[in-house]
Amino acid sequence: MSEHIGAASDTLTIEGLSGGYDRFDVIHDIAFRVGAGEAVALLGPNGAGKTTVLRAIMGLLPRRRGRIEIEGSDIAGLPTRRIARGLVGLVPEGRRLFTGQSVEDNLRLGGMHVRRDTARTQELLQSVFDLFPVVERYRAREATALSGGEQQMVAIGRMMMSDPALMLLDEPSLGLAPLAIQDLTKALQRLRGQNRSILLVEQRVDMALEVCDRVYVLSEGRIVDEGRAADIGAEGRALIDAYLG
Ligand code: ATP
Repeated sequence: MSEHIGAASDTLTIEGLSGGYDRFDVIHDIAFRVGAGEAVALLGPNGAGKTTVLRAIMGLLPRRRGRIEIEGSDIAGLPTRRIARGLVGLVPEGRRLFTGQSVEDNLRLGGMHVRRDTARTQELLQSVFDLFPVVERYRAREATALSGGEQQMVAIGRMMMSDPALMLLDEPSLGLAPLAIQDLTKALQRLRGQNRSILLVEQRVDMALEVCDRVYVLSEGRIVDEGRAADIGAEGRALIDAYLG
């Protein structure tokens, strides 16, 4: 299913990205792209380096080389707080909602850098509520008292509040019951339907193929395959499953 796809209007372009922790590289010469309005999955087994790629994009990897561009501008060297201000939003693995805070407070904390613009904040809140009616219904409840699936939607909403050019989601299905995964899949399809640029890190191939336009497979810190979700038949799935072990 290998095919190289390039376009001028990319939200994210990564070239020659290598890096890691301490003295060892855990990702090696990685190149991939997320087009404007495209949902792309980065699939791979435990330890393949998926979270490390996301950390590099957020400016959180201690050591790295290569180019990371958002809408054509190199973000190398920018501090994480600058990257998080409207360039890249992250839904971290495990959601990490603020405890002791209501759903709405969690959302508002995600939109800190637009808070002075109350009209924009209200608009962003409304866009979260439109996408996730359950989040609006429980807006006054304590966020961490919600079910896992509901919390995941709050975490995605909190990320949306920063109004990012690129949305990163790190294994959103992790630890969720099958029904909650179905709801999450539908929610992500609605998000994708809004022409957002999304990079979804997942171990669940079925979910990634339902949500994304294209997939890349990461194994031992290298991109080993890529393709369009619609073109990946049974054979392609078997190949991805083999990589995922
Ligand atoms: P998972 O699905 O388990 O989260 P992953 O594909 O996201 O896996 P990473 O978390 O990126 O993988 O880890 C890639 C490699 O980097 C692993 O070998 C891991 O042990 C190592 N690693 C991750 N974080 C650190 C760290 N803070 N210090 C040192 N090594 C790390």
